[in-house]
Amino acid sequence: MKSLVVGAGFSGAVIANLIATKLNETVLVIDKKDHIAGNCYDYRDTNGIMIHKYGSHIFHTNNEKVWNFIKQFGDFNQYMHKVIAIIDGIETTIPFNFNTLYDVFPQTMAKRLEEKLLEKFEYNKKVPILEFQKQDDEDLKFLANYVYEKVFLHYTTKQWGVSPNDVDGAVTARVPVYLSKDDRYFQDKYQGIPLEGYTKLVENMLNHPNIEVRLNTDYKDITENFDRVFYTGAIDEYFDYELGQLPYRSVNFKFEEYDREFYQKNSVVNYPCNYDFTRIHEYKHYLNDKSDKTVIAKEYSEFFDLGKNERYYPIPKDENTELYNKYLEKSKRLNNVYFLGRLGDYKYYDMDKAILRAIELFEEIA
Ligand code: FAD
Ligand code: UDP
Repeated sequence: MKSLVVGAGFSGAVIANLIATKLNETVLVIDKKDHIAGNCYDYRDTNGIMIHKYGSHIFHTNNEKVWNFIKQFGDFNQYMHKVIAIIDGIETTIPFNFNTLYDVFPQTMAKRLEEKLLEKFEYNKKVPILEFQKQDDEDLKFLANYVYEKVFLHYTTKQWGVSPNDVDGAVTARVPVYLSKDDRYFQDKYQGIPLEGYTKLVENMLNHPNIEVRLNTDYKDITENFDRVFYTGAIDEYFDYELGQLPYRSVNFKFEEYDREFYQKNSVVNYPCNYDFTRIHEYKHYLNDKSDKTVIAKEYSEFFDLGKNERYYPIPKDENTELYNKYLEKSKRLNNVYFLGRLGDYKYYDMDKAILRAIELFEEIA
């Protein structure tokens, strides 16, 4: 085997596929888990419902290269994600948009706010909450405080353990105030769920005579030598935490099964003001799975604690980036070891960004 790929998530599977198909070289892919697909792993349960084990995954991208690459491995449906939120007991949509405005405020008040917003901002503009808070007009100031408090403050505190002012602005900017009537969570050109699931998609990527996959295998168990190593695990773990641990947020999904057709009317319902969980996922909505039963998961965020739970989210923050950069410097002194992926690059990548990073790294080395 010429190359070793550590991790069989999207990042590892993409690079392994490209080496096997484009360079016609052999690759060993290992994963310490007992399954492929990393955090995108899904499976059909006994009720025939496709469960996303590590939380809802919705594919979305504007990148033609990524889309053309990924669709070679499976067809997608035309699912366009919407998120319902319960704000003061009112069911509405997130991101906060003009429809939300009319859901949560009386008609005349919503109209006044809408007119003021349209005087100030272009229609369809997306404004991150931290920027939206900078208002001079008293009505808009009230609105900005309302959105900050009702949508962002408690949710972000539950998710990150700190207030929106203390997380990197890019995090809350993922869900901006949207001056539009478009209720979708993403506006990307290509969106959908793979018809046979993410695991099947990754399996198809890895299904090549040049690729061998070994599960339940940690990098530490590997004794063979390779010309190149592609490492999609945590970069600090690779270096035995020599410079200290990179912090992460973890998530705990509490699954519940109900003897009824639906639990909620949407795949994801956010609870930005109430309860300890951030959101509830109901999986059968993604592929329109038919069953008399339903399965949901309540998502609880928690600190990552080495050996106790899993790394889910790198925490974008200056001091963490500084520590990551020190590991990056060390990694540059290694010969033919490449780091990539959410954990290898310590970046809050969506699937399309992880795929693009793997494609670009391949192009660099090839
Ligand atoms: P991972 O999927 O984490 O894969 C890394 C793999 O490496 C793992 O399987 C791990 O077991 C293995 N590994 C690590 N260390 C070792 C070792 N030492 N030895 C052997 N194996 C090792 N993105 C979207 O685009 N849309 C979404 O809706 C979306 N929702 C998400 C929801 C949640 C809760 C989370 C956490 C992420 C979500 N993402 C979403 C992001 C998506 O999960 C990532 O972009 C994607 O999983 C990144 O793939 P990866 O291969 O880099 O990492
Ligand atoms: N967010 C929030 N309220 C919401 C939805 C999102 O405060 O109802 C903030 C929160 O800080 C969250 C971030 O926006 O971590 C990004 O949300 P996204 O849904 O993109 O997070 P992910 O799906 O990656 O967990």
